[in-house]
Amino acid sequence: MSSKPRKKRSIESWVRKKIKPGERKRLLLKVGEGFTGVGVQLPLMVWRGLEDGPVLGITAAVHGDEINGTGAIRKLIQEPPFELKRGALILVPVVNIMGFERHSRYTPDRRDLNRSFPGSGHGSLTARLAHVIMEEVVARCDFIIDLHTAAVRRTNFPNVRADMDDPDCERLAAAFGAEVIVNNTGPDGSLRREACRAGCPTIILEAGEVLKVEPSVQDLIQRGLTHIMAELDMIDVADDLRPETAPHQMIVQGSSWVRAGSGGFLTFHVGPGETVQKDQPLATNTGLLGKEYETIVSPHHGIVLGMTTMPAVSPGDPILHIALPDTRKQFRSLEKSVDRIEDNTLENQVRDHLATSITVVEHSLDEDEIEIIGTDDM
Ligand SMILES: [Zn+2]
Repeated sequence: MSSKPRKKRSIESWVRKKIKPGERKRLLLKVGEGFTGVGVQLPLMVWRGLEDGPVLGITAAVHGDEINGTGAIRKLIQEPPFELKRGALILVPVVNIMGFERHSRYTPDRRDLNRSFPGSGHGSLTARLAHVIMEEVVARCDFIIDLHTAAVRRTNFPNVRADMDDPDCERLAAAFGAEVIVNNTGPDGSLRREACRAGCPTIILEAGEVLKVEPSVQDLIQRGLTHIMAELDMIDVADDLRPETAPHQMIVQGSSWVRAGSGGFLTFHVGPGETVQKDQPLATNTGLLGKEYETIVSPHHGIVLGMTTMPAVSPGDPILHIALPDTRKQFRSLEKSVDRIEDNTLENQVRDHLATSITVVEHSLDEDEIEIIGTDDM
């Protein structure tokens, strides 16, 4: 998807307030009214560097329960790890303010905001919220990083999703420095896709779980944003102070969900961020009294991108999301690189932290014990 030129709104004038170079201003953007008739306002910060430069938007909680990015933006405001020299930041810790108030992914009219862009000023509640975001935020940004987590009862190993055919998106994605980049344009109606269409290159990060602010994910977001701001020349980072980056960066074109074959209770044998080989046991599915129903094996070579955190499954439930390398050679080099990750790295900390939501035990099942059984057998 190629960016096209567009009419851009200025950063200097926002809701008739002047924001001068070097200033940070907290603003409230009116996005509608609640049931009481009182205005619903969306808090955001505009932060200008001393000199002109690109305007980078950082948005979170487009799904109202995905608050890892909300925590990361707040941390960036409270403990900035850099001095903003050029350009400006527009920080929106919660885009879906109405869903956020209800701890919900969705808006109060039960729509998915991230399928409702670009919206309309005369449409549904959700369409109007999307429209305000496009007009007031996207129209002022040169680039956007949109922060997400897995959906409820799942966790995501940090991965960037970007349209790698767009050179600006490719530049942002590469600079962020995640281990895995999924190359796609995003679903119709998503903020990312519609912002790109409107000429504002946008990528997303998927990391961690809903309703949590996870420390290793915060660190990873902070590090990635610092890399992006350095890439866009918004901050000065001496080469020796540049934060570490991932030991590898694998761009994948596709991914695949592995599903439970039967209902049961899972014990996992792999965690988020682990590489898996075809036919490797991923989980053992048992009855509540421990009778084994099935060993779920990987249909592919790949890296674990997402997992259910809920061990009780129905037949057909998605349990594990695998990113698929393009070639066997690419997989082998990824496998080697993951094996070499050292204990004190952020990559290792993220793996350790995310695995605390899942019980991972080594697979030790004797194949002869697996038995397909009737409905009475527990
Ligand atoms: Zn999301």
